[in-house]
Formats: sequence, C-alpha cells, structure tokens
Amino acid sequence: MRGLIDAHAHLNEIEALGEALAEARRVGVAQVVAMGMERLSNEQNLRLALQYPGQVRPALGYHPWSLEAEQVDATLAHIREHLPQCVALGEVGLDYKVKVPKKLQQEVFARLLEIAAEQDKPAVVHCRFSHLRAYAMVRAAGLRRAVFHWYSGPLDVLDAILADGYFISVTPALAYSPPHRAAAQHAPLDRILVETDSPVSYQGRPSRPADLLQTIEQLSQLKQIPMEETARTTAGNARRFYDLPAA
Ligand SMILES: [Zn+2]
Repeated sequence: MRGLIDAHAHLNEIEALGEALAEARRVGVAQVVAMGMERLSNEQNLRLALQYPGQVRPALGYHPWSLEAEQVDATLAHIREHLPQCVALGEVGLDYKVKVPKKLQQEVFARLLEIAAEQDKPAVVHCRFSHLRAYAMVRAAGLRRAVFHWYSGPLDVLDAILADGYFISVTPALAYSPPHRAAAQHAPLDRILVETDSPVSYQGRPSRPADLLQTIEQLSQLKQIPMEETARTTAGNARRFYDLPAA
C-alpha cells in the first residue's frame, strides 16, 4: 500500500523518531499529521516539519490535559501566529475525566476554535466524556472542518456530527473497544480518518505511525470492505480534510 496518512500522532513523544518514520515510509505511510499539546510540542512540531519535509505535517494545539491558566494567553498567541504554516488546529478539546476545571477547558477551547474559524483550519478534537459539549462548541464556532478524535461516544451525537459534515477518527483500539467499534461501524467510510495516536500504548504495546496498518486492517474487517479500498478511501479523506497534496 502507498500514500497512507496517519491522521494523528504525537511525534515529539516517539523515541528513535527517525527510525520510526523510515519504518512508516517502508509500509506506505507517506505522511503523518503531528499533534501539539502545548507550547513545547507545538514548537517541536514546527521543527519536525522542516526536518522531514513532505512526511511530517504539523498541527498546533493546546490539549485539555496541558492547560495552565497562566500560560493560556502566550500559548494562544503562539498558535495564532504560526497556525498559517500548519495543516490543522490540534489537539484541542475537552476532557471531563481530568481534574482541570471544566470552565477553564471550555474558555480555552472556545478561544482556540475562534482562531481556527478565522484561519479556516480544520480542528482535531479530543472529546473524552464530553462528546455532546465538544460537538456543540465546534458547531457554534462555525467550523467548516472538524474531526472527533478516537470517537467512542453516543451514536446520536455521532449522527449530529455526521449531519454537519464532520469526521471521526479511529485508532488501533478498534481491536478491543466496543464503543469505538460501534462508532466506526455507524459512520460511513468516507467520514473516517485513520490514525495511531502514537506513541499511545494499545494493550500494553507502545504504537508507532507504521501501526496505521493495524487501524486500517481492523476497520476493513469491521466494515467488511477490502483492505486496499479501506486504505485508499481513508487516505483520500485525510487529503481532503487536511488539504494535503498526494504523496
Ligand atoms: Zn492524541
């Protein structure tokens, strides 16, 4: 397979990254969208995009896990300034399972969505235990493109997400997570992005971008669509979503 796109990875957290990216290329993962969590990883992503031109596509984000009230203004200013060089705003969103106050999460997320809307960039949205609120905020911000990352939420919220033209993404957790499988089953293939969220561990094993093949294989089995077609369609989805050239 060729021209595959890992729609979501945390490259700055991967050990021996050069080797991991070479391995990804060997199995056909031609492009990887690098997610940012806070100022430091955002800066690392901008550098990685220069170091691996054409393969690493940078996104800038501010993850709900990483929020610190006194860093918000500076982090958002840095994102606003550098987002034009990036393919997306991400990773951003809400996480109602962490201790970070919901009010702070919502304030920051709303300001981030405003920046994405101004620059017409797609948003990559973390929505753990906050699916409905995260979706409602994206819609209210008037975003044209958003992907609800690793979607494992209610199917009625998923219907609303799809009706608005938004996407979900799927990970290797398709192998074992019933709510994630249900979402992947429910969404049409042309609204699904495939990703690894690497280096996240799946059942104890840390992932790398080359594991995108596992995501594709799981999705192909679940939807009973041949692996080639699953790969081709989802790569096309990612190219359109992130506005990427064919590689
Ligand atoms: Zn992530």
